[in-house]
Amino acid sequence: AIVLTPYWSPEEGIQKLKLEAQAKALAAPGLAPPAFSLKVQLDRTLLQLRSKSSPIEKYSFLAQLKETDVEAFYRLCLENMSEITPIIYTPTVGEACLQYSKIYRNPEGLFISLKDKGRIGSILRNWPLAKDARISVVTDGSRILGLGDLGANGMPIAVGKLSLYVAGAGIRPSSTLPITLDVGTNNSSNLSDPLYLGLRQRRPSQEEYDAFMDEFIAEMKRVYPKVLVQFEDFSSDNAFSYLTRFRNSLPLFNDDVQGTGAVVLAGLLSAARLVPIPRNEHRILLFGAGSASVGVAKQLMSFFTVAGMSEEEARHQIWLVDSKGLVYVGREGIAEYKMYFARKHYTGLPMKDLSEIVQYVKPTVLLGLSTIAGAFTPDVIRLMSQNTPRPIIFPLSNPVHLSECTFADALTHSNGTAIFASGSPFGREVIGGVRREAGQGNNMYIFPGLGLGALLCRAKRVTDSMVEASALGLAGSLSWDERALELVYPRIERLREISASIAVKVIREAQKVGVDNSTDLKRMSDARLLEFVKRKMWNP
Ligand code: NAP
Ligand code: MN
Repeated sequence: AIVLTPYWSPEEGIQKLKLEAQAKALAAPGLAPPAFSLKVQLDRTLLQLRSKSSPIEKYSFLAQLKETDVEAFYRLCLENMSEITPIIYTPTVGEACLQYSKIYRNPEGLFISLKDKGRIGSILRNWPLAKDARISVVTDGSRILGLGDLGANGMPIAVGKLSLYVAGAGIRPSSTLPITLDVGTNNSSNLSDPLYLGLRQRRPSQEEYDAFMDEFIAEMKRVYPKVLVQFEDFSSDNAFSYLTRFRNSLPLFNDDVQGTGAVVLAGLLSAARLVPIPRNEHRILLFGAGSASVGVAKQLMSFFTVAGMSEEEARHQIWLVDSKGLVYVGREGIAEYKMYFARKHYTGLPMKDLSEIVQYVKPTVLLGLSTIAGAFTPDVIRLMSQNTPRPIIFPLSNPVHLSECTFADALTHSNGTAIFASGSPFGREVIGGVRREAGQGNNMYIFPGLGLGALLCRAKRVTDSMVEASALGLAGSLSWDERALELVYPRIERLREISASIAVKVIREAQKVGVDNSTDLKRMSDARLLEFVKRKMWNP
């Protein structure tokens, strides 16, 4: 007889129970159709997925599949990466967050609210798979993609990132722990929505929030001494301050600051190979100056310093633009985290118009991390192309409807010369009879491998040098045919292979700076270490 186990059992793992029930069902004569086969079932599932008419229905279908049959879900992901990723991740995951109050069905992660202050440890112990937890993605929903403060409805972003850890780096599904910190929201439409899932209160004072975070991190360490924490989609000021505050107490990184920095560095290293300009003559203009942008700017310093420039010279090649225009010393009200990149010797008038700024800076690289759709106008792209033979244009804002320009626009207005990558996926374009493919400059290329490497060598900390190692690993992973097509990022189908080589680089760096705990891995040759990493990956 088949015992139907309750879906949400605090004592034992959800997935494990469901798998058992399923295995029993398949083994029991009469319960499976006579011609049932798992292989055909997977084709059938894909057909069912494709029959859904809207992306959000596809999202819900896949969420349901993940819940009822985690193996089938990941097999489908692995065999159809480029089709599934845009549904479980950007852009559709953004829609899922916006609609979460309506589409919510079952718990997929832990919610810890301000009301839990004083008993956060006991909430953390309620996770059904506590023993197995190794990687936790933690968001406070305050800046979800470019969609702003969505409060407790940020949960799908933590869930989606962790699905990519499994699909992209073979982390065991049972080892993933999505956490949403609900400290209120300033989003008034959520606050007045009767279906909203979070606390109906505005965000607290910094002091109250800091005290809550201090308890949360202390309890994470106590309850989950082996867990690596990824901070995700915190608003910019807290992104920087909490990274600094907690990164020395446990293995932790901020994906928006560091993951994005690494993925852009990798893309730029690949793009620069296609451009007939010496490395130290590049001029980089970052449009947007939030956590992602400043994280990228910091990481890009190494693009220049590796080429032999001093820190001061490197910084001189980088310009930031925020909502008030060009960021320069002496301008009013510049946030602390931007100050390092404020232009020192700028004496002109405040400059706000991007076309004007492009004419002044003459950038060879233009990066968009502003959440402003269409900010890279035809005029901006044309002006940029006049000053450089192969303009490097990366509109990185997510989801796709917030992209600073489309792939087609970048190609058209640069006469096909642009080297392009975007945060969310764009398709293919044909220009002048040549087929071109857009790269996807998204931290999904970095965090799975970075996390896997840090886990496998039991890193005590995630250092900046480990993040940089992941960037170099990614840049080094382009295949010859990808290079021949002028791609700046590898194909997403190869994500597992790429994550494995990134993990090796990360482990080696952790060993070098002495934050690892892996004597046995130290003795392995690189080839054997790569084998080891691949062997450790979970497969459906
Ligand atoms: P954020 O903190 O809100 O930063 C947005 C920045 O854009 C701020 O500096 C803001 O200026 C500036 N901005 C807003 N309106 C502007 C305007 N009209 N002109 C010029 N600048 C303007 O957000 P974030 O965390 O940095 O993220 C930004 C975007 O990057 C999001 O869309 C996110 O999805 C995307 N992102 C992509 C990746 C990836 O892997 N591709 C990773 C992380 C983030 P102020 O500082 O003056 O407010
Ligand atoms: Mn993010």
